[in-house]
Amino acid sequence: MARPHWVPEGTDQDTPNVARVYDCYLGGSHNFAVDRELARKAIATWPDLPLIMRANRAFLRRAVQYLAQEGITRFLDIGSGIPTFGAVHEVAREIRPDARVVYVDIDPVAVQHSRLILEDDPLCEVVQADMRDPEALLKQPAVAELLRPRERVAVLLVAVLHFVQDEEDPGRIVRVLHDAVPPGSALVLSHASREARPDVVEEHQDLYKRTPMPLTMRSREEIVALFEGFEPVEPGVVYLPEWRPERPEAVGPHPELMAGLAGVGRRL
Ligand code: SAM
Repeated sequence: MARPHWVPEGTDQDTPNVARVYDCYLGGSHNFAVDRELARKAIATWPDLPLIMRANRAFLRRAVQYLAQEGITRFLDIGSGIPTFGAVHEVAREIRPDARVVYVDIDPVAVQHSRLILEDDPLCEVVQADMRDPEALLKQPAVAELLRPRERVAVLLVAVLHFVQDEEDPGRIVRVLHDAVPPGSALVLSHASREARPDVVEEHQDLYKRTPMPLTMRSREEIVALFEGFEPVEPGVVYLPEWRPERPEAVGPHPELMAGLAGVGRRL
């Protein structure tokens, strides 16, 4: 079968991959049989997963809307994933048509697909980089260019730091990014919580050991600590649906079941 145009040459189609598995949960079509198989197994033990991923995307949209309304026009979306409905530039430009976005991901499919979509957009760039080396990420020309004017920047780490293991020091990544942006900048962060469904944590993490990026779900305390140097804006670090819901009833009776904690922090 011919290789689809969104699949870069040499892509490993036999090992599941977190960007493509996430695409499966969201009902996308940029994934392979191995990814669908992993997603199917995960959903069998944890049927809320597709809803959780949607709650995560909805949080991302509300956070970007909030920051665009606050006047931020520069967005650095790290671990941006395979483009799906409600990408950062689309959401931000509803409020700030001049919004610039640099999308960064380690995954070749996410990067290739993003480039195909954004190639004619003069205010968006796509970079392939590994955020576990944040210094190298910051030296990428498109990233350096975004940060050069020293205007406020929103740094997005949405559903990505749980793919950084403890020994790889996720806190250090945030600190390096903190030091690279001026005061008044923002951190948008969401992270898988291990407290909402302790009964499924081990099985779920075991499944992700089949990918090149094992999953580390963390406690509230560990997730809140990632905001060091950033002051969380109201309502603080909360379950995904609780962060500035559009309508009070959108939160639902059990927001903790949408097992991600999320917040927006203002750089001090
Ligand atoms: N941020 C998007 C969202 O919330 O909808 C996508 C989240 S998806 C669950 C996680 C993304 O992080 C994947 O696209 C994956 O390739 C990317 N990722 C994981 N580890 C990474 C790393 N070390 N550097 C850059 N991207 C990474």
